[in-house]
Formats: sequence, structure tokens, C-alpha cells
Amino acid sequence: MRRRLDKTKDDHEPNAKKGHWASGLLTTMKDKTYILEKDDLVTMIKDMYPKAKYHYLVLPNENISNLKALNASKVPLLEHMHNIGKKYIQKNHSNITFKMGYHAEASMHRLHLHIISVDMNSPCLKTKKHWNSFTTDFFLDSNEIIENLRKNGKVLLPSKQLCETYMKSALKCHKCHDTARNMPELKKHILTHLEHDRLSVR
Ligand code: AMP
Ligand code: ZN
Repeated sequence: MRRRLDKTKDDHEPNAKKGHWASGLLTTMKDKTYILEKDDLVTMIKDMYPKAKYHYLVLPNENISNLKALNASKVPLLEHMHNIGKKYIQKNHSNITFKMGYHAEASMHRLHLHIISVDMNSPCLKTKKHWNSFTTDFFLDSNEIIENLRKNGKVLLPSKQLCETYMKSALKCHKCHDTARNMPELKKHILTHLEHDRLSVR
């Protein structure tokens, strides 16, 4: 029986594009249908499995694997990545709130800055790990990372143990801090905030 491609499936799964799943961003960086902005230094792409209504990634064109590979000379590059993302959302989504930052431990190769709208409403957002990676201190604010690098000459990151604690923490709504027993319950709860926001802008 043929399996249909599930567009909400993260690429840690066998439906992913050819090649090792962790290198998927390198392929997408070359795909015109995903590229939003590109210059000599960076490429901005659509996240293939968006965890909110709008979710983008900005990557350096040079081969920098992750936050651990940075030194102070890369502060201007990180600032440029930030500014490319900021300009894009100012131009295209001026009335939507976004956050910009890095996962303390990334799963995909090549440094990438997440630019994500704060609705956290997407069919691709399915697991506790997905949720906690964007709503706990596992998500490191872009400006703070730049300051961290400028001050320390490298990025000081939370320990492995702390990262595990973030990932295992209880499911908590990022808007009102209510806790949910499971993802379906949390996703239903998130919709009540979105409906409330929708009614209040009428
Ligand atoms: P991280 O956990 O910080 O490494 O996040 C990796 C991000 O890349 C996630 O938001 C995924 O949805 C996204 N992603 C995974 N595979 C691809 C791909 N092939 N092309 C574009 N985005 C991807
Ligand atoms: Zn809530």
C-alpha cells in the first residue's frame, strides 16, 4: 500500500527528503520555493514543518554548525541574521507578534535563527518536545544570544541536564500559564486564546 506524504511530519521520520534528516536545512536553503531572502551572508527560508502560523529560519551561508561553533568575530553575522528576519516580518506581518531566537540544542545542522509567530497554532506542532522547545527557556532570545557572545567571546549555554528539564517540564500555556494534561488538551486551550483575540479586534 502506498503511503501518502504527511506534510506535517517532522523530518526525523522516514518521509523526509532524501539524505540524512539532520541535513535537510542545507537542501531547503537551495530550494527557490522556500527561500524568502538571500544575500552574500545569509539565507532566510520558510520552516518546512512550521510550529506556528508563521515560522521562518535564517541561516548563515557559511558552514557554521551551531551556537557552540561561534566566537566573538561572528557577532556582526548574528546581528545581520537578526536584522534580515526583523525587516522581513516588519514588511510582511507588521501587526503580528513574533519571537526570534535559537534552540539551546538544535536538532538540525547549520546554525539557524527561528522567527516564529506567537500563536503557536499549527498542525505540525504535535509533541511536548515541540511545545517546550519554543515556550520554555530552552528557547534563547536572539538579542540575548548576541549579548552573550559579545560579552563572553563564546555562547554560554544551559547544561544538558537543564535542557532535559526544560523538555520534560509540564505543558503550560504560554499566554495564561494554565497547565494541560496532554497536547490535544493544550491545543484546544490555545484556540480559546486565538478566538478571544479574534473577537477583541473586531
Ligand atoms: P531545531 O530543533 O532548532 O534544529 O529546529 C529545526 C527546525 O527545522 C524545525 O523547526 C523544523 O520544523 C525545521 N525543519 C526540519 N527539516 C526541515 C527541512 N528539510 N527544511 C526546512 N525546515 C526544516
Ligand atoms: Zn492559556
